[in-house]
Amino acid sequence: MTETEFGPVYDNVLEGIGRTPLVKVSTIDTGPCELYLKLESQNPGGSIKDRIGIAMIEAAEADGRLKPGGAIVEATAGNTGLALALVAARKGYTLTIVVPDKMAQEKIFHLKALGAKVQLTRSDVGKGHADYYQDVAARIAEETGAFYVNQFANEANPKAHEELTGPEIWGQMDHDVDAIIAGVGSGGTITGLSRYFARVSPKTECILADPKGSILTDYVNTGQIPNEVGSWLVEGIGEDFIPDTCDLSKVHTAYSITDVESFEAARELLRKEGILGGSSSGTLFATALKYCRAQTEKKRVVAFVCDRGDKYLSKMFNDHWMYDNGFIKRPPANDLTDLIS
Ligand code: PMP
Repeated sequence: MTETEFGPVYDNVLEGIGRTPLVKVSTIDTGPCELYLKLESQNPGGSIKDRIGIAMIEAAEADGRLKPGGAIVEATAGNTGLALALVAARKGYTLTIVVPDKMAQEKIFHLKALGAKVQLTRSDVGKGHADYYQDVAARIAEETGAFYVNQFANEANPKAHEELTGPEIWGQMDHDVDAIIAGVGSGGTITGLSRYFARVSPKTECILADPKGSILTDYVNTGQIPNEVGSWLVEGIGEDFIPDTCDLSKVHTAYSITDVESFEAARELLRKEGILGGSSSGTLFATALKYCRAQTEKKRVVAFVCDRGDKYLSKMFNDHWMYDNGFIKRPPANDLTDLIS
């Protein structure tokens, strides 16, 4: 890679992972605080997961679990799959992604376009069932000798954020950060960041942004795991279990955010700040605004735009979908043409 005054020149696209920009929120009320958003959407695969895609593959290369031209398997239809597919394509590995059959066609088309083999399995079965997507992936790995990435139990996941994402934020913020806001899917981001900031800046609060229905808010705020799990439409964050990679012991507090709050925040972020983020970015942004507006003195706060919003254009950015799902009220009859998508 060469740095020029006009921007970097990469030898290959993977060098473009990380070192993402921060943007200061400037048109929306942030109380007495300065709020910065880290645009993980600008990674080449479009999400924060590029960071762990390359980290988990390079860790397996380094310790011999993955040989040149080898096979990789993972169970996911989300951003981790896209990240792994990008890295596998560029590095010449074959990749099988095991996907539950309820997942959006677009995600499957995207994985296939990147050269991944997609194996569909049942969505209506849970852990321990032979057709459960994670069990299918583990079985393929065992039978074929492929490297099973398993982001939920892979230490290279939080480590990537502790060693790279954390120091980037610390440097970009001139070593002055009062709060960081993140969500939990695998927990890699918040685990890595909270470990890093506990070391370099103990005053920095780590705050969980969690969809309503997830068990994690209660766990952080009360130490108890609730018996009931709800459901939510925000994608990529919120859990019904605590993954091995998820250490919440250094997380200060958690905010529970409804779907409609997340979607409205993501829509406002696009219309007022011009930033096209996904639904989990809406959850983080809604949390960040609540936190900032509740402060009585100036704080420097960082949240993430976790992925690009393009794949949500026919969902939360679409008034028709918002109306169909009860998130916005029916407009007057003569405005119905505005709803045609
Ligand atoms: N946002 C999106 C869109 C995601 O796909 C994920 C990961 N599932 C996250 C946030 C959360 O990241 P992590 O796995 O590091 O907890």
